[in-house]
Amino acid sequence: MYDVSIIGLGCAAYTAAVYTARYKLATLVVGEVEGGMGITAAEVGNWPGEVEIPGPELMENFKNHALSFDEVSHKVARVESIEKIDGGYRLKYQNGESDEAKTIIFATGSNKRHLGVPGEEELSGKGVTYCATCDAFFFKGKDVAVLGGGDSAVEGAAIAAQVANKVYLIHRRDSFRAEPYWVDKVKEKDNVVFVLERNVTEILGEGRVSGLKLDKEFEGSDTINLDGVFIEVGSTPATSLPIAMGCEVDEKGHLKVDAGMRTNVAGVFGAGDVTDASNYFAQFATAAGEGCIAANSAFTFLQSGK
Ligand code: NAP
Repeated sequence: MYDVSIIGLGCAAYTAAVYTARYKLATLVVGEVEGGMGITAAEVGNWPGEVEIPGPELMENFKNHALSFDEVSHKVARVESIEKIDGGYRLKYQNGESDEAKTIIFATGSNKRHLGVPGEEELSGKGVTYCATCDAFFFKGKDVAVLGGGDSAVEGAAIAAQVANKVYLIHRRDSFRAEPYWVDKVKEKDNVVFVLERNVTEILGEGRVSGLKLDKEFEGSDTINLDGVFIEVGSTPATSLPIAMGCEVDEKGHLKVDAGMRTNVAGVFGAGDVTDASNYFAQFATAAGEGCIAANSAFTFLQSGK
């Protein structure tokens, strides 16, 4: 039986693993996507100590650091369910295998939110995608739209503008919640068209995206013809496993944790984008901090039962 199982393979998870390893805890890190949401960042400029580093490279560094410890085992697998057993928990995987651990740290992150308009599901993967920075390079020389006004959308528009012919940045308000750093970057691009105070009501296309419909006319038409739509309207915390174990979530659906990253279930902790901590500010720095605290709390719990 492991001392701690960390569920997730992102920034919070690997940071927690570095700490649990140094506490000499037998640690299992398990999740589906190596690097988590961090690999979707084309350029990270706010991880202290690195002026600029691509997200995939930063996450590779995190993983290699965690795996440099003999105490850490690493598994790419989907945890299907978790059951309480004597002295801990049993994690069951899709392939029927299982592992046991005395404590759990949920660092399961979040899933991209869908817009919920006609055409979106049918054209998903056929020009509709949920990661502008990952998929922009498939749209070289094409016209695309990025939807949203947060960091993901504005950074995504700046990256897409490097390869696409034209990028429509469509946002429902007239100001952005994204970092001014990214807003300035995108304003420098002369192939980005700002479509503000507009909502997308439908994604158009027969078998492949050919355009989208707006709730209000833009430059004399409520339709824009284009080849790709990157939906970047935020994400929802991945809490199905902790909820099934009786962990409480807040009104926004985030895993409720105290200052020690403890959930309401003994021996179960949370870290990173999945939690209600750090004022919902989903950053590498906050995820790492939460992972570090969760590891410390798991160590204390294993020593004292509290
Ligand atoms: P976000 O900050 O939650 O922004 C989501 C955006 O989508 C908002 O502008 C929101 O509009 C809009 N939106 C939400 N629902 C919508 C709907 N139904 N229709 C139209 N628009 C809708 O999400 P995010 O940009 O994915 O960022 C998530 C977290 O990751 C943030 O903490 C962010 O700082 C972080 N992040 C950081 C970086 C970086 O530092 N480089 C990069 C990516 C993400 P309103 O503004 O009107 O609410």
